[in-house]
Amino acid sequence: MSAISHNLQAVRDKIYAAANTAARAPENVNLLAVSKTWGADEVLEAARAGQRAFGENYEQEAVAKMAVVKAAQPELALEWHFIGPLQSNKTRSIAEHFDWVHSIDREKIARRLSDQRPAELPSLNVCIQVNISGEDSKSGVSPADVPALARAIAAMPHLKLRGLMAIPEPETNPEKQRIPFAQMKQLFDQLRAQGIELDTLSMGMTDDMGAAIAAGATIVRVGTAIFGQRQYHEK
Ligand SMILES: *Cc1c(COP(=O)(O)O)cnc(C)c1O
Repeated sequence: MSAISHNLQAVRDKIYAAANTAARAPENVNLLAVSKTWGADEVLEAARAGQRAFGENYEQEAVAKMAVVKAAQPELALEWHFIGPLQSNKTRSIAEHFDWVHSIDREKIARRLSDQRPAELPSLNVCIQVNISGEDSKSGVSPADVPALARAIAAMPHLKLRGLMAIPEPETNPEKQRIPFAQMKQLFDQLRAQGIELDTLSMGMTDDMGAAIAAGATIVRVGTAIFGQRQYHEK
């Protein structure tokens, strides 16, 4: 077994155990393999071990990688999720190349993605990024502003609003890790109670996936535990 396939199995086991502990069905927790900074070879290795959904933060890096992966194994049906900060000048390429965007943080960006989504592709699946820890430095919408943005996105023709995403402040204490995730679950339930259709809570990374699953995550975004420590600095 390669290191990546071994790591992937360990992450799947962890998801399974965390779901069981929380009395949740493990198949309701999907694994997004975050391949940012890694190459097409690592993506192909994970794909050979059965992984289908990959998360990327940088448009140029991702699109180049997708082309190499496609050329190497054209029959592989992979799902690509954009999870990084969104800039206006990148929306066209993102709308053309990705299946999901997790990091919507303003209406203008959502509108551009909807306008630029090619008509022959299915609607782009999107999540609203919520600034749940209230940090000034982090991107994301404040919880109070989420309902209005959700309603605006739900009306956009080429987007499909799927849910909410968060990157809480790093925290090592598992009990404290749960607090922002529980707040996200509460916000998610409130929106659904208001009639907004959502089925996705994208939260939890290598160091806090257990707490996120306990709180109701349906997608965990995991990089380091699968591919190892990223070898160069993020841009
Ligand atoms: C890099 C990244 C991840 C993965 O983080 P790890 O700690 O390596 O698992 C998840 N989500 C987002 C938005 C990221 O940028």
